[in-house]
Amino acid sequence: MTGFNHVLTGVTIAVVVQQPVLAPLVALASHFLLDMMPHFGGLTWFNNWGKQLIVLTVMDALLCTIFLLLGITFFPQHIHLILLCAVFAILPDLLWIFHYRYGVQHRFFVFHQAIQRYERPWGAFVEVAFCGLLLSLLWLIINR
Ligand SMILES: [Zn+2]
Repeated sequence: MTGFNHVLTGVTIAVVVQQPVLAPLVALASHFLLDMMPHFGGLTWFNNWGKQLIVLTVMDALLCTIFLLLGITFFPQHIHLILLCAVFAILPDLLWIFHYRYGVQHRFFVFHQAIQRYERPWGAFVEVAFCGLLLSLLWLIINR
C-alpha cells in the first residue's frame, strides 16, 4: 500500500481506538494487513530510482504530510496518539531504507516483500477507494 494510505490508516486508528497502548499496535498490524490487500505497484519502473518513481515518492510524502496535518487539525485532542499511530502505521516501509540503502538482509524483509503479492497497476483504484472510505469515516466522526 502507498505511504499516504498507511498514514491515513494510522490517523483513523488513533481517532477511533483512542487507547494509547492498543492503538499503536493496531496501527502496526494494519500495515501488514494493508500490504496483503491488492494495491498499487508492480510496474517495471518501480525497480530503479528514475524520475517517475521520484515524483511518485514526493507526491506520496506530500499526501502523508497533508493527511497527518488534517488529522492534527481536526482532532487536536489526539495529537500525540495520531503522530504515534501514523509512525507505527508506516514504520515497516521506513525500514526498507536499511535494506535498499545499506543492504541489510533480514527475514523481516523477505516476509514484508512476500505479503505484497497483489501489487498491481490497477491496485491504484483500490488505493483511491480505500482512501475515500477512510476520509468519509473521518468526515462522519468530525460531523457527529
Ligand atoms: Zn509495507
